[in-house]
Amino acid sequence: MVYSAGVPSPSPITSQNRSGVPPTNLALAPVPPEHLTPHDLVTYFRCPREMELRHRQREAWRTGHPLPAIGSVPPEARTRSPLPPPPIGHLLTFQGRLDVFPTDVLIYEDPEEDGLPILFPPERNQTRAFLQRHGHTLVDPSWGLSGRPDLVIRRRDGSLVPVEYKETHLWERFHEVHGRLFDLIQVLAECRLIEVTWGQRPRVGIVYYGDGPGGGEREGWVELAYGDEERAWLEHALLMIRQDRERPPIPSETHCSGCEMNRDHLCPQAAVPFGRHRGDGGDRAGRAQGYFGRA
Ligand code: SF4
Repeated sequence: MVYSAGVPSPSPITSQNRSGVPPTNLALAPVPPEHLTPHDLVTYFRCPREMELRHRQREAWRTGHPLPAIGSVPPEARTRSPLPPPPIGHLLTFQGRLDVFPTDVLIYEDPEEDGLPILFPPERNQTRAFLQRHGHTLVDPSWGLSGRPDLVIRRRDGSLVPVEYKETHLWERFHEVHGRLFDLIQVLAECRLIEVTWGQRPRVGIVYYGDGPGGGEREGWVELAYGDEERAWLEHALLMIRQDRERPPIPSETHCSGCEMNRDHLCPQAAVPFGRHRGDGGDRAGRAQGYFGRA
C-alpha cells in the first residue's frame, strides 16, 4: 500500500495488538548489521579468519559458552584477503613533528589511549566537554561502525581532522613497514565516524608516526584524502566483510607470528608458532609479547 500526503499512516508496530495478544510475526523487525570497528577492517584486510576468530572469542567470553567450531576452506582460497587495498592516490607524507597551528583546537582525544603526543596547551583542549556529552566511542548506526580515533583536531577553517598515532613504527622505515596500508584503512574508517558524529565530512585523515610514547626523535605523518572514492571503498569494504561467510585464513609468517589467535591456540592454519619469525632471529617474539602485554 502506498501512503500519500493527507492519508493517515498506519499505527506503528507495537509489541501487542489491540486484543493484548503479542504478535507472532516479528520477522519484520530490521536486523542490525554486524557491528564492525576500524580495527576489524584492518584485521580482515590482513587475515579474515583472524577477525572471525576474534569475534567468536569475544562472544564466548561474553556468554560463557565454548568457542563455536569454524569451517575449513581449501588451500587455494588462502592466498590473500578478498578485500582490495584502499585507494591511496591522494597521499602526502611529511617529516617531523605534526604541524599544529595556534588557531587549531583539540576537540576529541581517546581517554583510554596512553602515550598520545601532547600537541595542545590546556586552553586549546576542548575534549572534556565532548566526552561528557557523548561518551568515549564514536558510533555510526547506519553503517554499523564504531570506534575511537586517537585525536580529532578542528582547524581554523572549521575542517575536522582525525589523527591516528603509531608509536610502534619508526618513521625512517615508513616505506618498508607492512603496517602502512593497515594504518590508512584505520584512519579512513575514523573519517567516516567523524562525518557522522559532527555532521561534517573530513577532507583528510592523518596517520602520525613516532618512535615512542608521546612522540620521539624520528617523527613524521601521512595525510590521506577522504573523498568520494575513499568513502565508496569503505562502504564497499563493510558490505564485503558482512557478506563473507568463509572468512578464510591467510597464513603468513609475518602476520601469524604476531597474531593473538595464534597466541591463544585458536588457529590450526598458523604458518609459524606465535612469536617465531624466520629471519629476525626470534626478536619478534619479544616485540610481539611486549606489544600485546601493553594492550
Ligand atoms: S594465525 Fe595466521 S592464519 Fe591464523 S588467524 Fe592468525 S594471521 Fe590468520
